[in-house]
Amino acid sequence: MNRVTVNREMCKECEYCLTFCPKKTILAKSETVNKMGYYAVESVNNADCIACGICATVCPEGAIMVEKDV
Ligand code: SF4
Ligand code: SF4
Repeated sequence: MNRVTVNREMCKECEYCLTFCPKKTILAKSETVNKMGYYAVESVNNADCIACGICATVCPEGAIMVEKDV
């Protein structure tokens, strides 16, 4: 299964990843803040990820890693 990992302590809640991901079921804001006070994004449904890498590309913080299933 493809896998998206978000380093929650690096996330500044800009929501670019949420906006540009072609699927809308994978990434979501968490309900608790990180150390910087942001409601960091987390991956909640890796099963729908097509590993396109767009989220990692648009993240200005470099907080997202995408691993493609092989
Ligand atoms: S790799 Fe593509 S499909 Fe998967 S979470 Fe990122 S933008 Fe969405
Ligand atoms: S693009 Fe990066 S910094 Fe912005 S909300 Fe997503 S994970 Fe957080």
